[in-house]
Amino acid sequence: MGGVSQPLTTVAEHQATVAALVGTTPVVDVPTSDALGLVLGADLVAPVPLPLFDNSAMDGYAVRAADVATTPVVLPVAADIPAGRTDVPPLEPGTAHRIMTGAPLPAGADAVVQVEWTDAGTGEVRVDRGVVADQNVRRAADDVAVGTTVLRAGTRLGPAQLGLAAALGFGALPVRRRVRVLVLSTGSELVAAGEPLAPGQIYESNGVMLAAAVREAGGEAELLRFVPDDVASFHAAIADRLAAVDLLLTSGGVSAGAYEVVKDAFTGRGVEFTRVAMQPGGPQGSGRYQGVAVATLPGNPVSAQVSFEVFVRPALRAAMGLSDVQRPTARAFLSAPLTSPPGRTQFRRGRYDPESGRVVTPVGGPGSHLLSALALSDCLIEVPEDVTELDAGAEVSVRFL
Ligand code: AMP
Ligand code: MG
Repeated sequence: MGGVSQPLTTVAEHQATVAALVGTTPVVDVPTSDALGLVLGADLVAPVPLPLFDNSAMDGYAVRAADVATTPVVLPVAADIPAGRTDVPPLEPGTAHRIMTGAPLPAGADAVVQVEWTDAGTGEVRVDRGVVADQNVRRAADDVAVGTTVLRAGTRLGPAQLGLAAALGFGALPVRRRVRVLVLSTGSELVAAGEPLAPGQIYESNGVMLAAAVREAGGEAELLRFVPDDVASFHAAIADRLAAVDLLLTSGGVSAGAYEVVKDAFTGRGVEFTRVAMQPGGPQGSGRYQGVAVATLPGNPVSAQVSFEVFVRPALRAAMGLSDVQRPTARAFLSAPLTSPPGRTQFRRGRYDPESGRVVTPVGGPGSHLLSALALSDCLIEVPEDVTELDAGAEVSVRFL
């Protein structure tokens, strides 16, 4: 690996560099049904009231409260108003309309008697218990008045917010669009799942993993077929796709070996390569190529995924206007001792057990090829740069995956 005297970039420095690379995405209209998890780019103002009109809160009979003040009383049923009826006749004094929940209250009615307080008659109805004015009636604008700002710009749209927008008639919403990421793996040893393996070849996994990580962060991933360690193949793969994305995310080809295709393709062309004081994930690159943000991750699968978590995920979330860009963290107690290299922030894979007193158990060793340990873990254990040994029971910071 590289010379020991070369100064290392800190984790925080590289985080800031990558965060500054990807600008916020533009505000565009997205169909409401596709906007889950996106952030509103403008205030949402109610174009209609909610409820839209006075309507019944019960299945029963629309009446004048004064007509049922003394019970029992029998009233002729003059009309039937299911939900959705648009031509509701007015209610004459001394009569009732059979009405269903959500149906428009007829003019002249001021209350609804629920069906359970009647004999449920259709020609005429016997009302056994009276109601007062407004009882079982949902008034127009009770929930939202026209012109109210119901959701502020910057709000993250969850199910309830989307439901409100749909109820107000918004078929599309102005949101910061999903950040678009082009994912490209490099390595002459890589073979796609399902294809035969020759000796020395391995199945490609970073592309699948990183594209999934982009989507889980809320972005859109385009996964290119991986390329061999050949600069011409690398440029050919990205040439006509680059302009369509906000970020090119590569893995592999950035460390200190002889065939470092990403380094070779980008050195002197706007992308800076550095070593970050972390384990795993030391070799990193970032910059701008042909106007497009580029982040280059190391090839070892655990390094690639941890680097994505630490550097890329927060940048993607910030680009979409999200305020919760970081994973939730907690303090926890190690179930077993750990060692960590001096001068490096170590991210070890762990399993957190809130039930047994916030204990975190390291999963697998520090090796950045230990993909099954990563798959079994639910958090990263962060060991600070200056810490080299931790005893069982030591308090550490974990970030949940
Ligand atoms: P590199 O950074 O290209 O030197 O790769 C470091 C290690 O990660 C090597 O063992 C590679 O075979 C492995 N590796 C790189 N890219 C991938 C990938 N896309 N899928 C699986 N393993 C990879
Ligand atoms: Mg490689």
